[in-house]
Amino acid sequence: MSDFRQDPISGRWAIVAESRSARPTEYPVRPPSSSIENCPFCEGHESWTPAEVGAARPAGLPANGPGWRVRAIPNKFPTLSADAGAARGATENPEGPIRPGWGFHEVIIATPEHSTPLAKLTPEAAGRLLRMVRERLRVLLTTNGVEACVTFENSGPESGGTLLHPHLQIVALPEIPPLLREEVDGLARFARAHEGRCGYESIASAERVDRSRMVRDSDDFTVFAPFASEHPFEVRIHPRRHESSFAQATDRELDELASLLPAVLGALDDVAPGASYNLVSRALPAGRPRAEEYHWHLDLLPRLVRADGFEVGGGISVNPVSPESAAEQFRAALERSGGPIPAAR
Ligand SMILES: [Zn+2]
Ligand SMILES: [Zn+2]
Repeated sequence: MSDFRQDPISGRWAIVAESRSARPTEYPVRPPSSSIENCPFCEGHESWTPAEVGAARPAGLPANGPGWRVRAIPNKFPTLSADAGAARGATENPEGPIRPGWGFHEVIIATPEHSTPLAKLTPEAAGRLLRMVRERLRVLLTTNGVEACVTFENSGPESGGTLLHPHLQIVALPEIPPLLREEVDGLARFARAHEGRCGYESIASAERVDRSRMVRDSDDFTVFAPFASEHPFEVRIHPRRHESSFAQATDRELDELASLLPAVLGALDDVAPGASYNLVSRALPAGRPRAEEYHWHLDLLPRLVRADGFEVGGGISVNPVSPESAAEQFRAALERSGGPIPAAR
């Protein structure tokens, strides 16, 4: 038995098919490789990376040396680079338009500790990391030519990540990427049909009433498993306040997220031990015409199943864990952990 479910904002469909979780699998999960001696993000190896663009370290210690608590650097192997040429202007070719891969790609090393995942960060350490992310987003989103940013963490061998040392990345693009465009178009469509209301706030309100997909409700955030989840144990962290990016987050929101995020990541490791995941947040620069409609959020996308030929060929995900079951398991895990998590309002 399965359901087709549609995300009301993006319009994307997912197939929720719980019976598929019973499939036998013969493929082993590769363990991540880990070597402190060869890690470019470990303390003492600062000269292995490009010069830092931001860092938190005690006063008096020089830049690009040890002693830091969080460190932002340009990616040594960038997806997009400001060296690639002008931000604008595609050249028409018979085969299709082509333009330089202009943009920015930064790495934010979460902690000097090689083997401490985000899930294990103290609220103070997570707060330092989130402050640096907010600072870099503020810089990148106000850089001429930047139209959008994607902030993400790749964790584990199935996430696309290559280095174990915990780090986030920000890619700043000269164009709004397709998923963000789908969201903004969907939010605009929803607002036209519902007296200007924000679609994501309507969804979060509905989830707070329904409760079957709720994970945690706090003063500033609603955490739930989205109705049309494409990934098993997918969770959305939705800020109650409407802003176009995490760059606009208040100190209070940031402090709350510093407790909430490690707790949610810890709960994932409880319900699916060792799960690889991507943590993703999209952002639009404040004050631009499309930005008003956007409501930023964090998506936790566990990578427990690989897309097969049907999913790649049809452009639709098959999710073997219903979001209702996922939310129930997350709630139980959070209760077991009893960790530093904001109380429900
Ligand atoms: Zn390391
Ligand atoms: Zn909103």
